Amino acid sequence: MMRKSPMKQENRQTISGADFKEYFQPENLQKALEIKAEYKEELKVAAGSTDLLVANYEKLHEIEYWLDLVKLDELKEIKVKDNKLHIGAMVTHLDLMDSDLIKDKLPVLAAAAEDVGSPQIRSRGTIGGNICTSSPAGDLLAPLLSYEASFKLQTEAGERIVKAEDFFTGPKRNLMEADELLTEIIIPMTENKREGSWIKVGRRKALVISTLTLAVVLEFEGEKIVKAGVAMGSVAPTPVRLKGIEAVMIDQTLKDLDYKALGKEVKSSINPIDDLRGTKEYREDVAVDVMVRALNELERKVSS
Ligand SMILES: Cc1cc2nc3c(=O)[nH]c(=O)nc-3n(C[C@H](O)[C@H](O)[C@H](O)COP(=O)(O)OP(=O)(O)OC[C@H]3O[C@@H](n4cnc5c(N)ncnc54)[C@H](O)[C@@H]3O)c2cc1C
Repeated sequence: MMRKSPMKQENRQTISGADFKEYFQPENLQKALEIKAEYKEELKVAAGSTDLLVANYEKLHEIEYWLDLVKLDELKEIKVKDNKLHIGAMVTHLDLMDSDLIKDKLPVLAAAAEDVGSPQIRSRGTIGGNICTSSPAGDLLAPLLSYEASFKLQTEAGERIVKAEDFFTGPKRNLMEADELLTEIIIPMTENKREGSWIKVGRRKALVISTLTLAVVLEFEGEKIVKAGVAMGSVAPTPVRLKGIEAVMIDQTLKDLDYKALGKEVKSSINPIDDLRGTKEYREDVAVDVMVRALNELERKVSS
């Protein structure tokens, strides 16, 4: 039987996306920064474009100037310098989950990268794009807060280093200026034993925007917790670090902690909203459960 040809889809663009005035694809960072300095907010920066094209689908024809970072190999490196891990902004989720260095030193970040979208999204989407989109549901953001990451923001004239916990200012908002590019993510290393846990709650197993995420990173001297990073996504207008919870953990062993009490403390530290993926009450209850689950998992890891 002959199949009917599918109806031709109507093109929702009024003008073709090729009506831009300039599409820059520089081969070095200095050139990219010069272009950014000249065009500022008129310029759309494209990394893997997985967020960008979805967000701008209806108005691609309005974008006149593009800066594509794809040829900036200097932003695709993962390296150790001065006892810190430096991750280039153009490192993809796939690079993160495949990197032996990341798996060894930052397993919570590797696990979160593995949970992003689908193989296609992971091979195109970048850590820099995840950060600059600044969605409270961005999967890499809670792990970056827990590892006390900082971000290098560069302009043609110089650079500044901003702590991840200061970077996010609201849903899909951050403190980047129009002439800045995010170039590097910097994470301190440690001599201490560091263990972590990553939990993503969503409605499906793949291609799912998180309903809630939790990243816990603990540093130990012997059995004593000497540093704690606890952060959640999708429970407030920005990803949040739960400093009250961290403070309770310091100088304790895992066995000393009252997991249920800590779980309840989490509930009072967050400010979730109702949306399609879950109600405020659901998120508060899940936040308690995942905190207890993470601590049980950490206890197993530490004692094995
Ligand atoms: C089907 C689908 C599934 C998805 N699933 C997930 C998921 O499970 N978890 C998740 O966290 N995300 C998910 N996403 C969102 C997205 O894939 C990720 O956030 C990804 O990391 C974005 O990276 P990118 O390189 O594609 O960013 P882009 O789309 O290229 O850029 C995103 C934003 O950041 C800006 N930008 C990018 N890089 C820089 C830079 N270096 N300096 C300054 N500005 C910059 C861009 O101008 C743009 O505003 C999904 C998206 C799709 C389409």
